[in-house]
Order: sequence, then C-alpha cells, then structure tokens
Amino acid sequence: MTNTNGRSAANSLRAHLSQSQPKDIAQAFIDQLDAYYAHPSSSYYIDKLERRFYEQKLRHLGWKPNPDPNIVTFGASGTDMCDRQIFFKNSATKPEKSTDEPFRGRQRRQGTAIIDFVQLDLIHMPKRLGSKAEFTIEETDDGQYAFEDAVKVWKVFERNGVKFAITAKPDGILDYQGRQLLFEYKTKATGLVAMNGKLDFKGADSHHLRQVTAESLLFGINEGIILYESTEKPSWFSDEDKKSVPKTRKTWADGKPKPDLWAFHFVITEEMQESLLADLAEQARLVYEKQIPPMTIEMTGKCAFCAFKGHCKSQLTDEEKTMLFEAERRYATSNLAGKYDHNNLREYLGGVQVEEEAEQ
Ligand code: SF4
Repeated sequence: MTNTNGRSAANSLRAHLSQSQPKDIAQAFIDQLDAYYAHPSSSYYIDKLERRFYEQKLRHLGWKPNPDPNIVTFGASGTDMCDRQIFFKNSATKPEKSTDEPFRGRQRRQGTAIIDFVQLDLIHMPKRLGSKAEFTIEETDDGQYAFEDAVKVWKVFERNGVKFAITAKPDGILDYQGRQLLFEYKTKATGLVAMNGKLDFKGADSHHLRQVTAESLLFGINEGIILYESTEKPSWFSDEDKKSVPKTRKTWADGKPKPDLWAFHFVITEEMQESLLADLAEQARLVYEKQIPPMTIEMTGKCAFCAFKGHCKSQLTDEEKTMLFEAERRYATSNLAGKYDHNNLREYLGGVQVEEEAEQ
C-alpha cells in the first residue's frame, strides 16, 4: 500500500514541480552559492561566527528520546520506508548488525561532514556577499541558527482514528525575500556526470520529496529547496581535450565545468500532505494491531538500507515465497530481465527457499 501510494504522491509532486516550479528560485540559490565559493575569502571562517556555530552544536550533543514512546513516530527522512520495515522497527525485533563495505562507511561520514560546512558557509554568506546574499539562515526566537536540533519538532497527528507522530530536524530554514523556505541538502557519490543525468531526467528523489512533505506538515512551510551536491568535482583544469578521459567521463563541456550542484525548488500542496498522512496512519495501524504487513514485489526496491532483511525473509509465508519466485521467473523471461526491479527482487530472494526446494 505504502509503496503504491508513496509513489503516486511523489509523482504528483513531480508533476506539480514541473508545472509550477519557478526555476529562478533554484537558479538564484545556485547563483548565490557559486558567488560565495568563487569569493577569495570563502576558505576562511570568521572566528565569531564559527565559534557561535560550534557552541550551538555542542549544546545539542546527546540523544534525546521522543516525548511519548507509545506513539508510533516517523522520522521525516524515514517516511518512505516499506510497511514491513516500519513494522519491524516498531516491534521488539532487534536491527541486524553486520559489517559493511569500508568505503560505504567513509561515504556516509563524507555526507555527514559536508552538511556541517554547508551550514557554516550559509551563515557566512551575508558577511561575504552583502546584500547579494538573498538566501539567509533564519534565527530562532532564542537566538540560535534555525537548523538541526535547534528547530527539532515532534508532532502528533491523527488520521482515520489512528494516532502517530512525525519528527524532523531540517538542514535549515531559509529566509528568501521575506519568504520562509525549508532547506534539505544531499550528497551524491555516483559521479557528477551520472548525478546530472539522473536529476535532469527524473528530478528530485522520491524519498527526499516525502521527507520535505513531512517537514512541511511540522513547520507550516510549504516550499523550499533540495540541494544535491556531487562529491566528485570537475577536473581542476578542462579535460575536454584529454584523450585519456573517455567522452562519457568528461567533466567539462563547452569550455565550462559541468555542474556539481543541483537545486530543486518544491511547493507542497494539501493533497500531497494528506496522501502522506494517510500512508503513515495505515502503517501505524498495522504496528498497533501487531499485523505483519504482507510482502509485495515493490517492497524489494527499498531493501538496500534495511536492517531487518534476515528477519523479514524468515517471516515470509509459503504463499508469499511462491508469489515472489513466480514473479522472479516472469522477470527473467521478460525484457526487464537483469534490470533494476528484477535485480532488487533477485537480491532479496538470496537465501530464501520455497518449501519444496527446502526439503530436497
Ligand atoms: S528487507 Fe526489504 S521488504 Fe523486508 S522489511 Fe526490509 S525493506 Fe522491507
């Protein structure tokens, strides 16, 4: 259910973006970032601002539990999880701890580290760019920069008779010419050519759109910016004429470096919010009623970061196993063989056996 509805909510948001997106807001934001990073002082921080930034971080160090552990709570960034993952996460099931590829650990910490500097840069922009810094980080009533824990919210909702909560701490709340904008920042490690191709073709990631829809419900702000940054940068000097670089890997074109930043301006409607709330209410209902959500083929597209894979497979019914294996056989003989959905299903089925096969 969630997969289908989630996808349609994201599609409807994309349609809305393509119709109404004032491209100039996204472009104006990129222009401001480019002006800042081209500035000769952008590699230096101002002591007073830097100190204030780190003092704020220090004040918020430490884990704080949600106010009511009996209410199913969704983190805004986790509002696109599969129904079963939400169920296991909110049951007594322990997340599986396994080692990972070392580079993935390094990649995760790269993303975590860069956002700190993006925020630090944003608070320096008014000093470096003067009135050209049109996008500025807001401040809270108690004088903190409006991002992360300083603006963390936990709020209870009720839909269809089911209570649940959403919590979020956005990467920033921006002021743009008197308008409030939500700000989310994401790194991409696929390489800048791949990043540009994907974002140009598909737009912002659907789970990031769900995240900002959830945030809009908490903060009462219905628009904002999702900023993507490639961790791969263009070659320091042009690689256009370098024979050693294949055409598909070139990071310069027409005498200019290819973009390593993409910004999307989004506008959230009430319909998108209600669609998300209905999905979350249904997931919460299954948790309260202790019903394991039935397995679907679409769910296997969300397994990559799931910490309940082994448990999920061990809870499959015989009918679900049969359904999945039959679907896999259909994929294998179709023109989708070896493509994204087929690969996800195959990956999930690793180690799963149907009854007859298990007995052989
Ligand atoms: S392993 Fe996949 S299908 Fe199972 S709970 Fe995790 S994400 Fe969902």
